[in-house]
This record gives sequence, C-alpha cells and structure tokens, in this order.
Amino acid sequence: PASLHRLSCFSASPQAYPLHGNPISRVPNFIGGQFLESRSESSIDVINPATQEIVSRVPLTTNEEFKAAVGAAKSAFPKWRNTPITARQRVMFKLQELIRRDMDKLALNITTEQGKTLKDAQGDVFRGLEVVEHACGMGTLQMGEYVSNVSHGIDTYSIREPLGVCAGICPFNFPAMIPLWMFPVAVTCGNTFVLKPSEKDPGASMLLAELAMEAGLPDGVLNIVHGANDTVNNICDDEDIRAVSFVGSNTAGMHIYSRAAAKGKRVQSNMGAKNHAIIMPDASPDATINALVAAGFGAAGQRCMALSTAVFVGGSKSWEDEIIKRASALKVNAGVEPETDLGPVISRQAKDRICRLVQSGIDSGARVVLDGRNIVVPGYKDGNFVGPTLLADVSSDMECYKEEIFGPVLLSMQADSLEDAIDIVNRNKYGNGASIFTTSGVSARKFQSEIEAGQVGINVPIPVPLPFFSFTGSKASFAGDLNFYGKAGVQFFTQIKTVTQQWKDLPSQGVSLAMPTSQ
Ligand code: NAD
Repeated sequence: PASLHRLSCFSASPQAYPLHGNPISRVPNFIGGQFLESRSESSIDVINPATQEIVSRVPLTTNEEFKAAVGAAKSAFPKWRNTPITARQRVMFKLQELIRRDMDKLALNITTEQGKTLKDAQGDVFRGLEVVEHACGMGTLQMGEYVSNVSHGIDTYSIREPLGVCAGICPFNFPAMIPLWMFPVAVTCGNTFVLKPSEKDPGASMLLAELAMEAGLPDGVLNIVHGANDTVNNICDDEDIRAVSFVGSNTAGMHIYSRAAAKGKRVQSNMGAKNHAIIMPDASPDATINALVAAGFGAAGQRCMALSTAVFVGGSKSWEDEIIKRASALKVNAGVEPETDLGPVISRQAKDRICRLVQSGIDSGARVVLDGRNIVVPGYKDGNFVGPTLLADVSSDMECYKEEIFGPVLLSMQADSLEDAIDIVNRNKYGNGASIFTTSGVSARKFQSEIEAGQVGINVPIPVPLPFFSFTGSKASFAGDLNFYGKAGVQFFTQIKTVTQQWKDLPSQGVSLAMPTSQ
C-alpha cells in the first residue's frame, strides 16, 4: 500500500546504530523485499544490557503493516513453491556462505543487544548456520515415498508439499540461532514466512534478512514484522497463516499454542525449562565440575538448555567446594570485553527477578554458598550483571526450584540413590533436557531409559541436538507434535499428500459398489 513508507538506505549493521549524539534509529519492518519504516507511533527501546544505552527502537507494527507482510508472503508463495527445489537449496548454499562472511558483524550485533560474550554470540550464529547447512540438502529431506503395485496396476506415492505462509515468533536469548531454526527450513520446503523477532534484540534478524536478500531469496519469501503481544495475536488469528513456530516462555507459548490452534493452524511451541544433572559418586570429577560450571553459568544462565539444577547422589559437599572455586574464577564483564566469561542478563527486570528468586530460596532454607547478586563491574556500573550464584540444600517445594530462574544460578540438591534422583527429575513439570555424569554404563543406561526428558545427556551437559536430529523437548517444555528442525521440522512445514494411480489396461470388471480391496 502507498501508506507503507520505504526506507531507501536501511542498514542493520552495528555501525548504523547511533553513536553518541546521533539520533536513535528505528528498526524497519521487512515486507516484500523492502525495509519499510513503520507508521506506528509506539515503539519499544532496544537496550544494551551492559550499559543501558538505547541501541535502537522497535516499532509496534500497525495492523495494516502486518496485513501487508502477510499479503507479500501470500503473493510470493505460488511462484516460490514452483521454483525447483535445487534452486531453493542454492539460496541456502549462498546464505550459509554469507553468514560465515558476516559472522563477526552478526556476533557484535548480538553482544550489543543481548549482552552475551562475543565468543558465545559466534556460537549462537554458528548453531543457526548449521540449520542453514542442513537445509541445503532439502531435496533429500523432503523426499516422499512410493509403493508400487498396491493393487493390480495401482501404485501409491506420497509427496510433501509446502503449506503456504508460515510464521515464527522468537525469544531474546538466541537472536540468530532461533530465527535460523525457523525460516531456512520453512522456505527451503517452499513456504513463505513472516518472522517476529524478540522486541529485545531484533538486530540479528535484520542482518539475516539482508543476507537472505543478497543470497537471492525472492522478495516476499521472508518478511519481518516487529512488535509485542498485538503482533503475536495478529499472527495467531490471521486466516492466511498456516503454521506458527514459537520459542519462548510458557506463558506466551501456551497462549499462542491455544489461540493459533483454535484458528486451525499447526503450532510447534518450544518453551521453558529446568534442566537437571544427576551426579553419581563415580563421575569423573574434573570433567564433571567443568561441565556443571560451563552449563550452569554460560550465557549467564540464559539458555533453555542451561543446567540449572545439580542433583548429587551420595553427598554434595566435596563437589560444591570445587564448583565454588572454579565459578569464582569466572570473569563477569561486558560481552565486548576480551576474556569475559559471563555477560549481563537481558534487563533490569530480569536481574530483579533472578535476585528475588535467590532470596526466596534463602528465606525458605537454602544455603547461598556463592552469591553473585551484588557484583560490581568496573566501567559498567549500570549493567544488569549477576555473578555466578550457587544455592545448596534446595528442595523441590521451594519457589526457586519450581520457577525457571533463567540466570547464572545453579541449585544443588541431594539424593540418596539414582532412583531417588530420577524421581526428583521426573516430578518436575519441565522436560527439556537432563544429564547424568557417571562412569557406570549400568547407571547411564538406567537413566536413559527411565528419565522423562526429551533430550538426554550422558556425560554431556547441554545435549542440544544437531540439525539432522530434532530439538526434542517434552512435557511442559514443548507443545505440539512435530519438533524443530531435523525430519520433524520438514514434516512440520509440509503437508503430506498421498496419490494413488492406476496405469494398466484391465478387462472390464463391471460396476461394483463394494468397498475396493486389494486381493
Ligand atoms: P517470552 O515468552 O517473554 O517472549 C518470546 C516471544 O513471545 C517474544 O517475541 C514476545 O514478544 C512474545 N510474547 C511474550 N509474551 C507474550 C504474550 N503474553 N502474548 C503474546 N506474545 C508474547 O520469552 P523470552 O523471555 O524472550 O525468552 C526466554 C524464554 O524462552 C525462557 O523461558 C526459555 O526457556 C525459553 N526458551 C526456550 C527454548 C526451547 O527451545 N525450549 C529456547 C530458547 C528459549
């Protein structure tokens, strides 16, 4: 529509962001291959969590602009679905090359808006890049099935066809990886896409849109609209959107799951977590402690596969002392500073929530053996920093255990036996991931078969599967039936069609009204 306002020279590169004294830019929407400034008068500030500086502003997209994005995706669909699959794959081949080229730029953007360290931000991009690489093999992944001669002269085959317009709604914690879990699989299957990045860190999605254009993705195949609840509700309600991918909290995820399903859409909803590690007395000490410290405090605990609870079988004291030693040695600083291990958490509200949950644990009887709540980071006095925190003697009735903390806080619990430990984990409502550390194959095998979690680690702390498998969170950590990426991801973004054909000259059998059978 004429009322959409084209931005002629948008660049999402970090250099385009305001330096001191420059006006703060508004992040454009990306509709029909154009970066368009929103007409909306309302916006949300994107804040650097290490400094509180406003990086940019995210518009609350108007309904008209939202409709235009879906319209662009709908118009682009017929041509794109008929584009040879080899040509669609080739766009992904090019995109993976461009993501590699711009890895540093993407990582700097993520660190600026999200706070994680530059090295961790590169990991964020890389884990998404692997999904793009996987999508390069879509010709094989999207193959159908064929059985010849199911009856006389009759063959049956199934084909996987794209759905149409699909949408993705993203969380703040992996600004590159999660958009890349979504749109590369969707579009290479032949769908078109409307992406809503997190309003807290939209920059990586914008850079990826630039790269997708450069890679040759046709106009309208990928669109980006910004906003918060209203934009999300528009996605759920829109008649032209066929499928919704969501990653984020349970509150938003269950709302989206039911609202979009009520409109007949398929939904995959990856949600919150409380990931446990069971540590057996026979576990290898050095490797286990390193794993607990890395997975408990890495990314300041803001990973859905962070290990937030350690259940020690047969006493925790000796383990705790060494965890404290190694965790205390971690450097908490702005993510752009070299040698930083932990950056800030995303917002002041997030820090307040983390500190409140730690305090509630202490008030209900937990021992704080390492307390990072009052950390001061020289040069970044306004940053939302929380240092590594270890709460011991936690029990499963405490609020700090029942709630997802999503910060650098490791809870320590004790169990008398492997059975008891498995029971603790299985009683927790979440089922994203769980790990065991042991040198006993018998314990590991028992754990693997009895644990109720979708992703299981054996001497591995964060078992996030590579894209040829799927991300298989379960219980309250997932709603839907087809998981992200891997075979399930392709199934999610395609409709199966089963064709039965007869090509044989047969003597006339006359008219039969009985149910056809093949005998
Ligand atoms: P969030 O739910 O606050 O936000 C996610 C998205 O939902 C955002 O785009 C936001 O605009 C939208 N949203 C939020 N509240 C909404 C509402 N009431 N109605 C409609 N839309 C709403 O999540 P977050 O804080 O950005 O991300 C952290 C959460 O994501 C954690 O719970 C974490 O465990 C989870 N997460 C899960 C996975 C996984 O794969 N299971 C991966 C990453 C993050």
